[in-house]
Amino acid sequence: MTETAPPSAPAVPQFDVVVVGAGMAGLYAVHHFRELGFSVVALEQGAGVGGTWFWNRYPGCRCDVPSLEYSFGFSEELEQEWEWTEVFPSQPEIERYLNHVADRFDLRRDIRLETKVVGATYDEAAQVWTVATEAGDPITGRFLVMASGNLSVPQTPELPGRETFAGPVLYTSMWPRDGVDLSGQRVALIGTGSSGVQSTPELADMAAHLTVFQRTPTYTWPSYNGPLDPEVQRRTKEHYRELRAGQRTNPGGVTGSTGAIILQTAEDRRILEVGEEERLAVLEELRWNASRVWFDALTNPEANELACELYREMVRRTVDDPEVAESLSPRGFPIGCKRPVIDTHYFETFNRDDVTLVDLRKGGIEAIDAGGIRTAQGYFEADVLVLATGFDAMTGALTRIDLRGRDGRLLRDVWAEGPRTNLGLQVAGFPNLFTVTGPGSPSVLANMVVCIEQHIEWIGECLTRMRDRGQTEVETTVEAQDAWVDHVNAVAAPTMMTASSCNSWYLGANIPGKPRVFLPYVGGLNQYIERAEAVVADDYAGFVFA
Ligand code: NAP
Repeated sequence: MTETAPPSAPAVPQFDVVVVGAGMAGLYAVHHFRELGFSVVALEQGAGVGGTWFWNRYPGCRCDVPSLEYSFGFSEELEQEWEWTEVFPSQPEIERYLNHVADRFDLRRDIRLETKVVGATYDEAAQVWTVATEAGDPITGRFLVMASGNLSVPQTPELPGRETFAGPVLYTSMWPRDGVDLSGQRVALIGTGSSGVQSTPELADMAAHLTVFQRTPTYTWPSYNGPLDPEVQRRTKEHYRELRAGQRTNPGGVTGSTGAIILQTAEDRRILEVGEEERLAVLEELRWNASRVWFDALTNPEANELACELYREMVRRTVDDPEVAESLSPRGFPIGCKRPVIDTHYFETFNRDDVTLVDLRKGGIEAIDAGGIRTAQGYFEADVLVLATGFDAMTGALTRIDLRGRDGRLLRDVWAEGPRTNLGLQVAGFPNLFTVTGPGSPSVLANMVVCIEQHIEWIGECLTRMRDRGQTEVETTVEAQDAWVDHVNAVAAPTMMTASSCNSWYLGANIPGKPRVFLPYVGGLNQYIERAEAVVADDYAGFVFA
């Protein structure tokens, strides 16, 4: 543990609430806390608002939650006036929407852009957070609300010689704002998660040649995107209140009432009870979805492996070259252990003459030099390097800054064995700190917008109660935090997500040295909301006020 003497803070802070981030969570936080009568400022490292949708502007970037549901529900006027154009919104459309929100609710006057937060320290005597930024003087607030995102800190892998590469090195998660002209260029893409899979067909269209470096093949399912039917939009707008209520009673925060097909869910079919002939008949009928409809595959490894084989058969039927098809076929980890990847013609892209797959399992990357990438299986020339290598998910934005609570204790040290929170909202030893969609909350396993609104509203209610009672400090007890962590682990244990063969970012397995702990709450958003509301109804049981 690192200890430093906390700087003394003024007894009266500059703001009631300092919010870190001006993505979806930060924008709503500014609006909501302001409406409740609190003074608020949001500090945002980007040059614009939008968070995820400001930074991830790579070709093909798109949300896989339907636009009519991936939108704020706090304002009926906003719901009625905004017109979505596609079933699943693209990055430019979501960024436009969030800029509209910032303007419509006059949020920009309380947002400081290009203000990167590097640390924050709690002064126990003054009950004030002092927030340090790269931009200048520290900023003080009674409460600190971390709205800094779950997938906001890019993972920058060690790739020997990367600095010697002559051309541009682009991260999908930090794509240049003005775009990049890739025509005539030989592009090397490293990473085949959601970002890599989404960008592959688009990069193939733009570049002279695309070489995809794949370390682990991915289970992906087709996107059912298309233009949004105006009639569906009109009907949804008529019934938005029911839809919003329905989102909060749904495990994933999505009602499906707009008719958009997101992902086939398990049906009442059991793969262990049917013979090969019937399995292949289901494959003919449901194509890729034939790997997702089996109820027993959710928990039974043998059933899951049979579903995986149906998936691999689908890859073989789609990809012309049998060797490439085999390389693209996931093996050794179950369907359902990682975040499902949604694609548009991903596998078909590998039938193009101007696209090459490099299966790193046959020989990994040895070095990068000025002209390309050397692997154990040969040298691949490239003019542009694209890294779709993921994020230090869920905890990175909290542990990679100097966040110090009681006795100057650093959150990074307190979480050395993995994060511990109460409801994903508060951490023992860090009074007046709130984490929006923090570890231990449904967040990445549900519709993020619904999760964000629910968290901000929970925090707002708590702060209002404190103001009414003249209280200035709130902190979870260690006992309540321990009980919540036990519950989070208990609901995750029987799922495929914690299988020992699974190396997902849900488990922190993508970051060298990160403890293997299942990070989100898999019990369902509806169950989570019930529990969070029960805490409030029980006079904030498990939280101590001063
Ligand atoms: P990711 O799922 O973590 O994928 C990272 C990829 O980079 C993996 O294929 C990984 O291989 C590879 N990689 C990492 N380091 C490497 C190295 N040193 N050498 C070779 N390969 C390396 O990250 P992501 O694709 O950015 O997606 C993260 C999450 O963001 C998603 O799961 C999703 O929640 C969200 N997202 C959603 C959408 C959407 O469709 N709505 C789009 C983009 C992102 P290994 O698997 O072998 O580690």
